[in-house]
Amino acid sequence: MLSSAPVSTESPSSPESSPERGDFIREIVAADLREGRVQTVVTRFPPEPNGYLHIGHAQAIRLSFGIARENGGRYHLRFDDTNPTKEEQEYIDAIEADIRWLGFDWGEHRYFASDYFEQLFEWAGELITAGKAYVDDLSADEIREHRGTFTEPGRESPWRDRSVDENLDLFEHMRAGGFPDGARVLRAKIDMAAPNINLRDPVLYRIVHAEHPRTGAAWCIYPTYDFAHGQSDAIEGITHSICTLEFEAHRPLYDWLIDNLPVPSRPHQYEFARLNLTHTVMSKRVLLRLVNEGHVRGWDDPRMPTLSGLRRRGLPAEGIRDFVAMVGVAKSAKVVEVEMLEHAVRNVLNRTAARRFAVLDPLKVVIENYPEDQVEEMEVVNNPEDPSAGTRPLPFTRELWIERDDFMEEPARKFFRLAPGREVRLRSAYFVTCREVVKDAAGTIVELRCTYDPDTRGGAAPDGRRPKATLHWLSAAHTVPAEVRLYDYLLRNPYPEADGDPFDDLNPDSETVLRGCLVEPSLADLPVGETVQFERLGYFCPDPDSASGALVFNRTLTLRDTWAKLQAQGRQDTA
Ligand code: ATP
Ligand code: MG
Repeated sequence: MLSSAPVSTESPSSPESSPERGDFIREIVAADLREGRVQTVVTRFPPEPNGYLHIGHAQAIRLSFGIARENGGRYHLRFDDTNPTKEEQEYIDAIEADIRWLGFDWGEHRYFASDYFEQLFEWAGELITAGKAYVDDLSADEIREHRGTFTEPGRESPWRDRSVDENLDLFEHMRAGGFPDGARVLRAKIDMAAPNINLRDPVLYRIVHAEHPRTGAAWCIYPTYDFAHGQSDAIEGITHSICTLEFEAHRPLYDWLIDNLPVPSRPHQYEFARLNLTHTVMSKRVLLRLVNEGHVRGWDDPRMPTLSGLRRRGLPAEGIRDFVAMVGVAKSAKVVEVEMLEHAVRNVLNRTAARRFAVLDPLKVVIENYPEDQVEEMEVVNNPEDPSAGTRPLPFTRELWIERDDFMEEPARKFFRLAPGREVRLRSAYFVTCREVVKDAAGTIVELRCTYDPDTRGGAAPDGRRPKATLHWLSAAHTVPAEVRLYDYLLRNPYPEADGDPFDDLNPDSETVLRGCLVEPSLADLPVGETVQFERLGYFCPDPDSASGALVFNRTLTLRDTWAKLQAQGRQDTA
C-alpha cells in the first residue's frame, strides 16, 4: 500500500501564478463593467448553515469572491438561515473558520438572511396588497398534487381568490403564531399553467414553530429560499448572484420577485456547473448521514470532502485553491477525477513540505563494526526543492531502524533494496551491507546484522561505487513513537452519486491505523496544521488527536502521482 516511488517533480504551469483563466461568468462581468451596466462588482457566497463546507463550496467561494477581488469589488458572506430546524450555530462558526482558512476574508460584510426577516415580511404584505400573493390552506401534499407535471399544467387552489383583506389578516395571524406548523402557507399568485413549475404559485412563507439560532422565538413563519434569496441580494446591492445550475429553473421566479417588489437594486443570477469528484459525495444530507451513523470520526474526518476534513488530512489551502482554478468554471456538469486534486496538492507540498524521517514498520539493524557508544550527527537536507530550508542534524548510532519492507531475504527480480550480502546507502549517512539475518523461534526476522563502510560518510564512496537503493533510517536511541493513520477512498465506487445508494459501497478499509511507528525527534513538536514529507513514504501531518507522548499522524497522500502519470500516458497515446 505504501508507495516508494520518487516524488514527482513534474510541475505543469502553476494555476495560481498564471493569470486568471477566463470563463463565461468572468466575461459577463467584464462586459457589464465595460458597458457601464455595473460600476462596482458585488458578489456573495450564501451558505445555508446546515452542515460543513466541502470542496465544492471552495469552487463557489473562489469564483464569487475571486471575481469581486479581481475587479476591485466587494464580496459578502451571507448565511441563508431560513430553515431553523436544520441550522445551528456550530455550522455558522465552522463555515467562517473554513472560508478564512481557504484564504478569503469578507471583512465587515457578513450578513444573515434573518437580518432581513422584517423587510421580507413587509414586502410579502405588499405582494398581497397588490393581489400577487395569497394565503393557501392546502396541505403540503395537496399543493404537490395541484402542481401538475412537466407535461400537465397545475390546478388552482380553491383558496387562490381570497380577498386582499382576508389574506392580510391571515398572514398577520400566521406571524402571530395563530396556526400550527403546515396549516397554511403564503404563495405567490403567478400562473398555475406556467411551463416552468417554479412559477406555479410558489410558496413564499411557511409556518415553522422552531427556535432560530439568531432570531430565537421571534418568528414562527419563515421565508423560503426563493423568497429570501433574490431579495437579500437586492438589499445588499449584489450585482452578480452566482450559483449552481440547479437554480437555473428558479431564475424566472428570482426575476419575477425582483420585478414585482420595491427592491433597492437589481441583481442578476448566473449559474455554473457544480463541482463533482470521483469517489466523493458532496450532498450535505449524505455527509450528515456519514457523521450521524458513525462511519467517520466527524465532519472533519480526514476522509471527508469537507474543508475541515481536508485540512485535518493535511491538504494545504493553496493546493485546494490551485485545484479549483485548474477545474475552471463550466456550463455543464462533469465529474472531475479526485486524482487531479491530489496532483494539485502534491505540487504544493513537493515545494513546501519539509522532509523528515519516519519508519512505519520498523526492523532493527545493528552495524557490527560501528563503535558501541558513538553518536554522529549527520547533516540531512530539509527540502531538496528549497535550498533555503537548509539542513538538520540527525543522530546516527550502531543500532538503527529501517523499514521492514526495505529488506527481502530472497530479493525479487526488481527489488534493489537491502538483501543478504547486498550494499545499500543509508540516506545522508553511510553505505551498509547486510551480513546476517536474525530470526526468532517463529521464523520472523527480528534483526539484521550489517557492516558499514566508514569511507562513505555523507552517502558517497571515494571509489565512486553507487548502490542501487537509498533507504531512510532512524537511530534506535533517538526516536519518538507514533500512531499513523492511513486513508483510502471512503467510497469504492468512482461514481457514487450516479449509481444508487452510496452507502452500499462504503470502503471497509478506508482507514488503517498503524501503531508502533517511529519518527525522528524533531517531529515531536510539529504543530497541527503543518504537513511534512516522511521521506519515501508520503506526506503526513499531526492529527488534532495528537498529544505529547502519544503522537498521531495522518497520511495526507502517498508520493505516487497517478494523475500526472495518466496525463503523461494520454500525451504519449496521442503523440
Ligand atoms: P446541498 O448539499 O444540500 O445541496 P448546498 O451544498 O447547495 O446544499 P448551500 O449552503 O446552499 O449548500 O451552498 C452554498 C453555495 O455553494 C450555493 O450557492 C451553491 O450553489 C454552492 N455549491 C454547493 N455545492 C457546490 C458544488 N459541488 N460545486 C460548486 N458550488 C457548490
Ligand atoms: Mg443549496
